[in-house]
Amino acid sequence: MKSWVYGAIKKISADYQRSADTHLIKLDIPSLSGIDLYLKDESTHPTGSLKHRLARSLFLYALCNGKITSETTVVEASSGSTAVSEACFARMIGVPFIAVMPRNTARSKIKQIELYGGRCHFVDSATQMRETSLELVSSIDGYFMDQFTYAERATDWRGNNNIAESIFNQLEQEPHPVPHSIIMSSGTGGTSATIGRYIHYKGYETKLVVVDPENSVFYDSFMMHDRSLTLKTGSRIEGIGRPQVEPSFQPDVIDSMTQVPDAASVATILWLESIIGRKAGASTGTNLWGALDVAIKMKAENQQGSIVTLMCDSGERYLDTYYDSVWVENNIGDVSPYLDQLNKIYTV
Ligand SMILES: *Cc1c(COP(=O)(O)O)cnc(C)c1O
Repeated sequence: MKSWVYGAIKKISADYQRSADTHLIKLDIPSLSGIDLYLKDESTHPTGSLKHRLARSLFLYALCNGKITSETTVVEASSGSTAVSEACFARMIGVPFIAVMPRNTARSKIKQIELYGGRCHFVDSATQMRETSLELVSSIDGYFMDQFTYAERATDWRGNNNIAESIFNQLEQEPHPVPHSIIMSSGTGGTSATIGRYIHYKGYETKLVVVDPENSVFYDSFMMHDRSLTLKTGSRIEGIGRPQVEPSFQPDVIDSMTQVPDAASVATILWLESIIGRKAGASTGTNLWGALDVAIKMKAENQQGSIVTLMCDSGERYLDTYYDSVWVENNIGDVSPYLDQLNKIYTV
């Protein structure tokens, strides 16, 4: 069995060897001269989001922990990008994969998971996903990947070309190679944990700012030092914001948090498309709104420096939601006041 496990690890390593790093895009914003803004473009991974990194780490972690063998069915509670990326890695090593998700999950997501040979197991509501996953793994020879628990520990935070090390390497020849701030939102909290730990490990002055959407407990939990907070409603910004404080969320490596209105997040992706011609998911809007907020404050204080944030996934996945103005009006509200603010930043 050890040789099967090692074979699986080698398949994942070989895939990694064949892959390129993701681009660090520099945004040109005339009114913010002296402040360099960068977007780490995670949409270009083969499975379309930063969850590609997470899925690779979770599979390697589970394999090395002896949790996955040739007979194991891998189960995850995810209606989103994580299930898509994990389905890809499950197929790569030849084990079955089941995503437990709400019945109302978008058809396009289900199709993508099935494209990679994954199966979808439906529950009536998001609150049943975890429990059903646990039941499922005990009834079959299964392993629950459990992204919200293991995201923070499956990634090697010391480096190994994790996202933080990659960002710092890519900035090496820039005018401000050590960024003033890195801005990231939290879903599992895994990415912000990796970035925050790496900043500490290397002794950088960089501040980690975590941005949170509406209908999420992360912000209040951070401010009140209370991990027991819960909410009844879910976040409308796909991939980020949670109704409970997930185990992977690591507040002690975060320097500050801010809340971003959902309408501002959506306005920001529309604005981003108008300046770089690329569509991004709404969490990228949350990130970029937070980054612009830091930039404007730096400008007001006559500071210079660089700021990095992430493009988490592409907007092509959301043509019938965030990029549909009727959907936005009915589900998010009026984005025009935020668009006006953004257009002012760009034209001044
Ligand atoms: C998961 C996800 C995030 C948040 O990343 P974490 O590392 O889970 O905190 C942001 N945006 C999108 C689109 C995601 O899928």
